[in-house]
Amino acid sequence: MKKYVIPIIAVILILVLALAILPAPEPERCAICDSIPFHAPALVNLETGEVGELEVYEPHPFKVAELNEYQQGGTFSFIHAAGLNGYSDTANWETHITVPLNENEYEEKHFCRTCRNLISRYKKQGYILLDLKDPGKPVAFEIHIDMNHAFRCYEIKATTTETEGELEIIVSGTLYA
Ligand SMILES: [Zn+2]
Repeated sequence: MKKYVIPIIAVILILVLALAILPAPEPERCAICDSIPFHAPALVNLETGEVGELEVYEPHPFKVAELNEYQQGGTFSFIHAAGLNGYSDTANWETHITVPLNENEYEEKHFCRTCRNLISRYKKQGYILLDLKDPGKPVAFEIHIDMNHAFRCYEIKATTTETEGELEIIVSGTLYA
């Protein structure tokens, strides 16, 4: 019996090592390319796979990822996206959210192989921004202090906060600018 102990331990060790090295299996639904479409920039939590829209304008009542033709504005509301809290201020057509950087562990199990390639450059940050109007063709934007991204009717910038290691993302709508 004793002579089997060492080979069994060796096999278990090899299996554990193989599991650590092998990529995680692809999910049934990828958090990015199987997401619902969003008009505004989307924030992705790379640890939990949560995806949330940093909405600035009122959505269309029934068309997916389109804006309502009439925008009333002048409201203030709290938002919850990708596990984080922020606020939307439509008096100024701005949405703010504070992102803790370097806190999240990247968990590839939430993403398909194609999306893993897309986000591989940005995974250290723990979060990424995406244009998910067409989730089949996601466009990734890195989050960093000097960022100045723009697409459709949105400009995305970041500022430091009083807390070290986090950035406040500001999405400004340019529809009426
Ligand atoms: Zn995907």
